[in-house]
Amino acid sequence: MKTIETGALSVEGWLQRMEHLALRHGVHLSTLQQKDGRDLEVLFASAMLAFPEDKLLGEQAANTILRRFLETAGVMVATDHVELRRWMVDTGFLQRSDYGTDYHRGTVPAWLADAAKALDIDRIVDTLVRARTADVTERETRRQAWLASQIEVTEDATGEAGVDETFMRLALDQAHNAWALSEVPVGAVIVKDKQVLATGFNQPIGNTDPTAHAEIRAMRAAAELLGNYRLTDCDLYVTLEPCAMCAGAVQHARIRRLIYAAPDPKTGACGSVVDLFAEPKLNHHTVVRAGVLADESRRLLSGFFVARRELKRQGSLPAEDDDSE
Ligand SMILES: [Zn+2]
Repeated sequence: MKTIETGALSVEGWLQRMEHLALRHGVHLSTLQQKDGRDLEVLFASAMLAFPEDKLLGEQAANTILRRFLETAGVMVATDHVELRRWMVDTGFLQRSDYGTDYHRGTVPAWLADAAKALDIDRIVDTLVRARTADVTERETRRQAWLASQIEVTEDATGEAGVDETFMRLALDQAHNAWALSEVPVGAVIVKDKQVLATGFNQPIGNTDPTAHAEIRAMRAAAELLGNYRLTDCDLYVTLEPCAMCAGAVQHARIRRLIYAAPDPKTGACGSVVDLFAEPKLNHHTVVRAGVLADESRRLLSGFFVARRELKRQGSLPAEDDDSE
C-alpha cells in the first residue's frame, strides 16, 4: 500500500471518517484504495481495534471477530471476512504467526497511532449505529412527507394495463411542469410497490445541465430516497422514448420495467434510432413497453413546439433558438 503523507488524525476525525463511510452501501475495498487510501486505513485500523491487545487468536476466533465487525461497524463494506483478513494481513494491520495459523494486532500508520490508543471498538460501533439510525429516520421522514403529497394509486380491476395508464398520466403531469418553465415537456415517474417513489421533468436549460432529462432527475431522486444506486424493483414511466444517455442510466440502475409513451424519431434509443435494450450484452434487467398514452404525449409535445414557434414569430423568443430538444 502506498504511504499517505498526512497530519495525525484526532479521535473525532476518525469517527467522522467512519461515519461518512458508514452511510454508504456496497463499498469495495479496491475502490477505497484507489480513491484516497485514508478511508481504507481508518477502516482497517477500526477492524484492528476489534482484536484484543497482545493476544494471539486462532483462525476461527479471528474470523468471528471480523464477521462481527462486518455485521456492525463495517456493514457498508462489500466484502467477506476472508477477503478482509487477507487485505489486513497484506497491509500490516493484522499480523499472522509464522505458521500462518494465529493472528494478532498489527501496526497502524503513524497518522492514526495516537487516536488508535484513545479509541476502542465499542465506541466506534456505538457512533456508527447512532449515525445510521439518524440517517434512516431522516430518510423515512422525507419519504413519508413525499408520499403524503402523492396520490396513492391502488390496483383495481383494470389490471396491469390500467395501472400503466394511471402512472403515465402522472408522468404527463410532470411534463406539464416542464412546459410551465419553457422546457420541452417530458415527464417521468418512478414507481415501487405500486406507489410513486419519485418524479422528474425535463429541465436542462433551467438547470444548465445537459443531463437534466426527466428520467435522470427521477432516478436521482429515487436513488436518494432509497439510499441505493440500484433501483431493482422500480418501474420508470416516461412520456417520451428515452435517449441513449437515459437508456444507459436505466440499465445501470437496473430498472425492472421501462414504460414510455411517444416514440422519439430524433434521439430515441429504444428502437427509433437505436435499440439499446435489444442488445443482450447490455441489458439483462429491463423489460420495455412502448406506446402507453402515446397520443396524449405527442399532442403535448406538438402543442409546445407550435406555441414556441408562435412566440418566435412574435419576436418573444430569439429566432436562433433551435426547435429540437
Ligand atoms: Zn434522455
